[in-house]
Amino acid sequence: MSPAKRRIVLKMSGEALASSASDETIDASMVERIALEMARAREELDLELAVMVGGGNIWRGTTGAGAGMDRATSDTMGMLATVINALALQDALEHHDQPTRVLSAVQMAEVAEPYIRRRAIRHLEKGRVVVFAAGMGNPYFTTDTSAALRAAEIEADLLCKGTHGGVDGVYTADPRKDPNATRYHEVSFMEVVSRDLRVMDLTAITFCKDNGLPIRVFDLMGPGNIRRALGGEPIGTLVR
Ligand code: UDP
Repeated sequence: MSPAKRRIVLKMSGEALASSASDETIDASMVERIALEMARAREELDLELAVMVGGGNIWRGTTGAGAGMDRATSDTMGMLATVINALALQDALEHHDQPTRVLSAVQMAEVAEPYIRRRAIRHLEKGRVVVFAAGMGNPYFTTDTSAALRAAEIEADLLCKGTHGGVDGVYTADPRKDPNATRYHEVSFMEVVSRDLRVMDLTAITFCKDNGLPIRVFDLMGPGNIRRALGGEPIGTLVR
């Protein structure tokens, strides 16, 4: 048997697919760029890559709930938003000759395969990129937590959290507000929780802690960074 390949889950927010330069909720050139980096990195590093994409560029459950909507309904809208992003990503990855399967946690047979753990693993073993859509299929959760759950389920070695807002890792304080904030190269789960450092939501962090799943937080937007993060280079911050 050949040695196991590294298996990584990359979490990216829906907003990474949008663009400040245009009003589009999905900027095709942005999706292309990210997909190209992913496809190249997967091939060159010869690893198994799954992606959890968010939906925040289209809808967030809390937005509707804040305006008086039923929370579960609003969250379902958010999950459907992630499916739109997942399809955009699949399309772009396949433009770059990277076979890709979208696995949805909400059944929609005409559009995507259902999420079945063993099937996800099989796709990865065959060199396909798996895009997880619809989070984990439950309201009241985020795609950060869904990414952590799926990473544990498929026994990934690492969860890579790509940021898009200009903050390239975990800082001692919010670097946009505090000029003295410094970036950690490495930080423990305990410190993230006790200092309330904004990495991922608390549910995702505690889940990763309980399951010994390290997280690499990095700037998704920097050219070449996806490859660096997936390749295990010390960019951004490692939480473990
Ligand atoms: N969502 C959900 N359950 C899940 C994953 C996502 O209800 O398992 C909903 C939730 O309303 C969330 C929205 O989908 O606000 C979009 O996901 P998220 O906010 O995580 O996207 P991101 O901020 O990463 O783009």
